[in-house]
Amino acid sequence: MATLVWDYLGEYDSERDDILAAVDKVFRSGRLVFGESTSSFEHEFAAYHGTRHAVGVDNGTNAIKLGLQALGIGPGDEVITVSNTAAPTVVAIDALGATPVFVDVRVEDYLMDTAQVAGAITERTKALVPVHLYGQCVDMVPLRRLATEHGLRILEDCAQSHGARQRGQVAGTMSDASAFSFYPTKVLGGYGDGGAVVTADAELDRRLRRLRYYGMAEQYYVVETPGHNSRLDEVQAEILRRKLDRLDEYIAHRRAVAARYAEGLAGTDLGLPVLAEGNDHVYYLYVVRHPRRDEILKALLDYDIQLNVSYRWPVHTMSGFEKLGYAMGSLPVTEALADEIFSLPMYPSLPLDVQDKVIGALCEVLARL
Ligand SMILES: *Cc1c(COP(=O)(O)O)cnc(C)c1O
Repeated sequence: MATLVWDYLGEYDSERDDILAAVDKVFRSGRLVFGESTSSFEHEFAAYHGTRHAVGVDNGTNAIKLGLQALGIGPGDEVITVSNTAAPTVVAIDALGATPVFVDVRVEDYLMDTAQVAGAITERTKALVPVHLYGQCVDMVPLRRLATEHGLRILEDCAQSHGARQRGQVAGTMSDASAFSFYPTKVLGGYGDGGAVVTADAELDRRLRRLRYYGMAEQYYVVETPGHNSRLDEVQAEILRRKLDRLDEYIAHRRAVAARYAEGLAGTDLGLPVLAEGNDHVYYLYVVRHPRRDEILKALLDYDIQLNVSYRWPVHTMSGFEKLGYAMGSLPVTEALADEIFSLPMYPSLPLDVQDKVIGALCEVLARL
């Protein structure tokens, strides 16, 4: 079988009894939606973050969308984020009728260049959406200062950073609200789709519970403000409860994989991930950089190694976002990165021999370039 960036079958092998027990528990409970598993997971996920509220939703994109909507973001508002992200960050902002505004990323760690945010603020700016990309946090201190000065809301996109920390604070607790995805590949991933919004604010929590359920309070069948259908499924919630218990273990394994790459590739001219000051990385992705990226990816196919690029097309260059009016050249660091980065296999159950094969193949390919 080809070596891929992500594979869950090894993990499923070792956790199969637990996962199937979770499914059986839900199916036997008599409650398939909004049952005990969802509410327990919400309490446990909030507790993991040391905060008060977590609202389960159907995916990470809708966690961003509902989170921003609950914060009062809507048509005509501008939301500052980055183009070097998964497209859903931007799709969610667009879905509200708001306008995404991009700043560039830093050349060292590919994270939002917070020094550019002040220059992007206009009188229509309502919110900032920092993306804690690849598993480490954007520097939140300058963003919080700007938000206070300009009366902006902040929503952290935590889809890639479950359990990451900055100066001891866990990702998702450094702003008004934060959005998580439990898409299977994520650091906390289900066996299907899922998402959550985390907040310390009881009023936001109340709004989110209505927004995800057509705009109704769960007990009454009356729409207050028209909302959406964005429920977290009971089966995913029960699976996620069990995986949440092991989240710190998964992260430890990811860090061990990253440390092994760093050691095995230290002698090469690959640009390796750089940890920003104050950050603990959870390595959702292990992203490396080389000017001859496409030749390397092609050569690795001869070793049956198929790697990914996250992300090959910056969002502002996608045809669907031409309407935003960003010309090529407007975000130079993001554009340069897109031509040079690629991701190495990264998941907690990555077998050592597979990782060694990848390191060995990369060293050979790089030596031949
Ligand atoms: C995965 C991801 C999302 C979207 O999550 P889905 O659950 O797939 O909707 C949003 N933002 C980022 C940064 C992501 O990586």
